[in-house]
Formats: sequence, C-alpha cells, structure tokens
Amino acid sequence: MQTAFFIKEAEESFAKLGVRISEPTLDFATANEWKAAVVKQMTSGVATLFKANGVEWVKGTGRFSGPNTIAVEGGEDVNFKQAVVATGSYPLRPPIDGLDSPRCVDSERLLAQTEVPRRLVVLGGGIIGCEFASIFRRFGSEVTIIEMLPTLIPQEDADAAKELAKQFQKRGIVLHLETSADRVEDTGSGLVVHHGGETTEADLMLVATGRGPTVENLGLEEIGVELDRREGIAADEHRPDLHRSGDRRRRADRGRGARAVRRRCRRRRLPLGRERARRDAERDRRLGQVDP
Ligand SMILES: Cc1cc2nc3c(=O)[nH]c(=O)nc-3n(C[C@H](O)[C@H](O)[C@H](O)COP(=O)(O)OP(=O)(O)OC[C@H]3O[C@@H](n4cnc5c(N)ncnc54)[C@H](O)[C@@H]3O)c2cc1C
Repeated sequence: MQTAFFIKEAEESFAKLGVRISEPTLDFATANEWKAAVVKQMTSGVATLFKANGVEWVKGTGRFSGPNTIAVEGGEDVNFKQAVVATGSYPLRPPIDGLDSPRCVDSERLLAQTEVPRRLVVLGGGIIGCEFASIFRRFGSEVTIIEMLPTLIPQEDADAAKELAKQFQKRGIVLHLETSADRVEDTGSGLVVHHGGETTEADLMLVATGRGPTVENLGLEEIGVELDRREGIAADEHRPDLHRSGDRRRRADRGRGARAVRRRCRRRRLPLGRERARRDAERDRRLGQVDP
C-alpha cells in the first residue's frame, strides 16, 4: 500500500509542487524486501513486548484437550483458568468450477508473487478486493473486478461506494457488478474467466470473497462450545471462562455496532449527529486505506 501511495504521489503531486523527476517505475523485488523487513520488525517488536511484560510465548499449534487444558503439538499441555480464542480467519472459496487453479490466489499468495501480473482479475469487490485492485493498478496491472452485488464495498455507505467506483473507473479499473464468475478455465498460460455470458482473460485471479473464522480442529466441540463454520463461536453463554477475540467474534456481535452507538449517545447524553460525524470521519479514514 505504501509503495502504491508513493507511486501515486510521484505521478500526481510531485510536478504540482515543483519536484521534477522522470516517470516512476516499480522495483517489485525491492518493494517486497521492504515489506518483509517491516513485518519482521513488527513481529520481533511483539516478542520483545512479551518479554518485557512477563508474557510466556508457547510456540506450537494448540487444541483444547479438556475443560481447562490446551494440548500443544510437540510441547507440554497448558492449563488455564480463563482462555481467549484468537485464532483468526481464513479466506473462503466459493464453489466455482476451476477455482482450484494455482493461478487463483488469496491475498496472502498475491502478496507472495515475485512479479506483477500483467492482467489481474479480482473476484469480490469488498474491502480486501478493492484494496488490492487499487494497489495493483498503481503497479501497472490491467485490473478487472467481478462483484455479485450492485456496488463495491457493500458494507460501507452508498455514497462512498459510488465515489470509489467513479475513481476506479477513472483509473481504468474495469468493473463487472451484479455478476458472479460462473467458471474459470486455466489455459496453461493464463486464465479465462466466464462471468454472466462474458469472458475476461487474466494472468492471475485474486479470490477475495470473504473470510471465515478459524474454529475447526481446535477441540472446541469436544469441550461443549457452540460453533459455526461461517459465523464463529458463541462461547460466552456456555463457558464464561472462554472468551473470543479479534476475527473470532461471532458476526452477530460485530453487527451490534449501530445499536451500541445509540445506547452510548443516550448514556452520555451526546447528540446522535455528533457521534455519527465521528463515525463518518472514521469511515473516511478506512476508505483511505482501501484506495490512497
Ligand atoms: C489482506 C488483509 C488486509 C487487511 N487490512 C486491514 C487493515 O488495513 N486494517 C485493519 O484494521 N484490519 C485489516 N485486516 C484485518 C486484520 O488483519 C484482522 O482483523 C486481524 O488480523 C484479526 O486479528 P486476530 O488476532 O483475530 O487474528 P490473526 O491476526 O489472524 O491471528 C490469529 C493467530 O492465531 C494463530 N493460530 C491459529 N490457530 C492456532 C492454533 N490452533 N494454535 C496456536 N495458534 C493458532 C495464527 O497462526 C495467527 O497467528 C486485513 C486482513 C487481510 C486478510
């Protein structure tokens, strides 16, 4: 994202401010090295924080093996009084014929590419799909987004979605809305994506059709925790000593935001409009993360 942002600045702002440079070109290998260094710095920073704050880091895959025990693969059992389940999420794959091609990748594998694809199809116009569409367009890819709903980023408000679509079209990103991919054909040298009676050729497809909670193979059912493969876990009702966090919260809990805002306003006697303005500012900040 940062690399894409600096290319944008060089293309659109430098000359305006009197800075003359030749046209910016992308050195993808260097950008990847920089990204890897940032990740390393951040992860080692967390390890240092653990040490400084007396947090023990047990390395290994854990699984609940008893009401108050987690078995760690290749290590010793960990006993707990209270546990937080924060196992994150994984990319969902819709059942579309041909989507098992190695040229259909998730965001992690797209970031691991060593070359910028000349033609990129993005399946799913949500936050992650739009973020990568924006970045790879800036990197020079021809980008096509296929989204089954009538708007991009359907979880944001309609005005923001409309503005993003306008900016994307201005930048040459092709949008196919209210369409799904019916079939993907791997020709051996690329992909042919069939969608709503049309076809789009590509070198790579990003599958960004949502993420599901990582709740399987954790031994949760065995210890009586209610879970749902798509929705996550509802631990608190049954096990007050188990808490879920981050992407592991049930979707219904996350959707309680609007009601919570109204309650907070009533409690603090704040005008709802001011709280809405604060949320709008937060939304604009998040949109900035999707498309610099
Ligand atoms: C491409 C992409 C871009 C994003 N961009 C943004 C953004 O700009 N801003 C933002 O706020 N959010 C963003 N997000 C969302 C953000 O990454 C997640 O909301 C956040 O990482 C969730 O944190 P978490 O701790 O719940 O899960 P995670 O960060 O996924 O951490 C889960 C951890 O649990 C470990 N684990 C899983 N199972 C086990 C097990 N059995 N035993 C031991 N360990 C286990 C995993 O190895 C992992 O380290 C983005 C997500 C994606 C995929």
